[in-house]
Amino acid sequence: MQQQQQQQQQQQQVTNHREIRSYAEQTLGSGSSLAKAVKLPNGEDVNEWLAVYIVDFYNQINMLYGTITEFCSPTTCPRMIATQEYEYLWQDPMHRNGKQPVSMSAPGYVEALMEWIQGFLDDETIFPTKMGVPFPKQFPVLVKTIMKRLFRVYAHMYCHHFDEINELGLQTHLNTSLKHFVLFCKEFDLLSRKDYGPLDELVDRMLEDSHPAKA
Ligand SMILES: [Zn+2]
Repeated sequence: MQQQQQQQQQQQQVTNHREIRSYAEQTLGSGSSLAKAVKLPNGEDVNEWLAVYIVDFYNQINMLYGTITEFCSPTTCPRMIATQEYEYLWQDPMHRNGKQPVSMSAPGYVEALMEWIQGFLDDETIFPTKMGVPFPKQFPVLVKTIMKRLFRVYAHMYCHHFDEINELGLQTHLNTSLKHFVLFCKEFDLLSRKDYGPLDELVDRMLEDSHPAKA
């Protein structure tokens, strides 16, 4: 009996690539309009545009992760992993004085990440809300770090909470959100293929789908 439970747990945790691929196909067709949506509008400041999207993805991911918090606890997910191959350690880059990256539970990591981002959003010198106030020089680098870490929440949700998301009927929502995210990253060259880790095939599929349909 106990063994059976363990087996069931393992099955839930390991999601293979074929499942992920078929998952992606559920949003086929929405790619080219999303690809257009992420493009910098004429005359818009690029930092302004990046800032708007950071807030948008921060909210989307918060909302999506929020739907599965009862399934993602320090007991179910004692480490922030995506498949058994990838573990994401937490490091606060603002504390460079020898702080080592630490292993955290998945909910602990997501909480630390969201607080860390919120700190920037509340800081007028980093995310200025007044017109004409310039963004700091390091803003584009910060954007890459934020996006790289936000992606890990998608990776954890896909690899370990796939079934729960499905049962809640949120799979299309999650797919569309991720597709939007990767198209945005591609448009502004924010993440590299290795940052996609266990979802690299899924991401490739989403990017293929974003090409305008050939007549
Ligand atoms: Zn989890």
